[in-house]
Amino acid sequence: MSENDPAVVGEPTTAEEEVEVKPVVAVVGRPNVGKSSLVNRILGRREAVVEDVPGVTRDRVAYDASWQERQFTLVDTGGWETGASGLAKVVAQQAEYAAQTADAIVFVVDATVGITDADAAVVRVLRRTSKPVVVAANKVDGERQEADALELWNLGVGEPFPVSALHGRGTGDMLDAVIAALPQAPSEGEEEPESAPRRIALVGRPNVGKSSLLNRLAGEDRVVVDAVAGTTRDAVDEVIELGGRPWTFVDTAGIRRRFRALQGADYYATVRTSTALERAEVAVVLMDVSDPLAEQDIRVVEQVVEAGRALVLAFNKWDTLDEERRYYLEKEIDRQLSRVSWAPRVNVSAKTGRHMERLVPALETSLAGWDTRIPTGRLNSWLKELVAATPPPVRGGKQPKILFATQADARPPQFVLFTTGFLEDNYRRFIERRLREEFGFEGSPIKLTMRIRE
Ligand code: GDP
Repeated sequence: MSENDPAVVGEPTTAEEEVEVKPVVAVVGRPNVGKSSLVNRILGRREAVVEDVPGVTRDRVAYDASWQERQFTLVDTGGWETGASGLAKVVAQQAEYAAQTADAIVFVVDATVGITDADAAVVRVLRRTSKPVVVAANKVDGERQEADALELWNLGVGEPFPVSALHGRGTGDMLDAVIAALPQAPSEGEEEPESAPRRIALVGRPNVGKSSLLNRLAGEDRVVVDAVAGTTRDAVDEVIELGGRPWTFVDTAGIRRRFRALQGADYYATVRTSTALERAEVAVVLMDVSDPLAEQDIRVVEQVVEAGRALVLAFNKWDTLDEERRYYLEKEIDRQLSRVSWAPRVNVSAKTGRHMERLVPALETSLAGWDTRIPTGRLNSWLKELVAATPPPVRGGKQPKILFATQADARPPQFVLFTTGFLEDNYRRFIERRLREEFGFEGSPIKLTMRIRE
């Protein structure tokens, strides 16, 4: 590494890989037909309870919902501001967005009023979409209104399902139709068994003290529970008890066996690291403070971020530090590791045992950040306020709209923004920063992707 070319941990990845998201069901319809009541009814008020926090606005956009074991994101389009004037236009625009973003559409009509101009405007939009549409003929509170519901066949978008959002009448049948219309379910939630020890990769360039640290950790507690043969001859995991619970250190053979012949063979070190990361949940990147941070240190940190693993930065050989070196070290960290300023940091000495006890809390913090799931309702009420205060910059004369967002995955947290246009990198980084300020994710990379529907 040359002096004027410091290595720096790269930008967060915002690659547009296809992320698997839960199916989206959008509820459309003109004002006062009962969209929000129907949304509440479908949610069974589960999210409402969680979110009845003072100071949090009530007009939300998207929620986590489920019916017959099928999970989906439920979107209330009522809150989408469009700037279009005239009721029919506004409603049509909302239906347009819904048609573009959703996998299925619930079209709510007030059966007691019948078909209005605004309803007809929605129909014109829905006729053009290939997305399945389920007509909810609302306010059918009793048998007397059943006939009103039949009138809505005249909309020409299929069978009207008589429902009462208020009393719950008929909503089950309607939801059955919605679920039947959704695309095939992906293989859902294979969560890890909670009891398994969490898996740590101890990584870092040669000679930073990985093997010494491992010996210290294993020796101190004197509870090397087990040595488990891995899938390949080299990959041996060790279970070590720390802070009263077992942890699996992956591929410790790669650390303990001295690959002295491979020193300087960056390629093998990189391969070894990525193999370890693949099998780990959290990585401890060990660095040696007796030397300036090297490009290779930064590369290892980058590998962890790219692999989407939780991260702990551990600065070893702290016993060697004097005032002057410490001053420069902090500068190096500021300059080269600012992109991972979200990662907890421990300053340790494998030699003296300094701050060994801080490792477990750091690991726990990072794993908690890595595991975090934000409920869709909460995410969207926050996002709505954020976007209202700081809208995305205009691009090519058009203002992209962020319609709603969901967290598609955890481990690491992965978010998908449904937008009507491309969001600049700067703006996405801004959202990412604010996401961290609001929800934490300490110690974990987070990923942000867009679903653009123009
Ligand atoms: P590895 O290649 O990352 O596994 O590094 P090793 O554990 O083999 O350590 C490399 C060298 O650094 C050895 O000579 C260790 O004794 C020394 N070392 C490791 N940790 C410390 C530490 O905390 N302080 C000091 N002063 N030396 C250390």
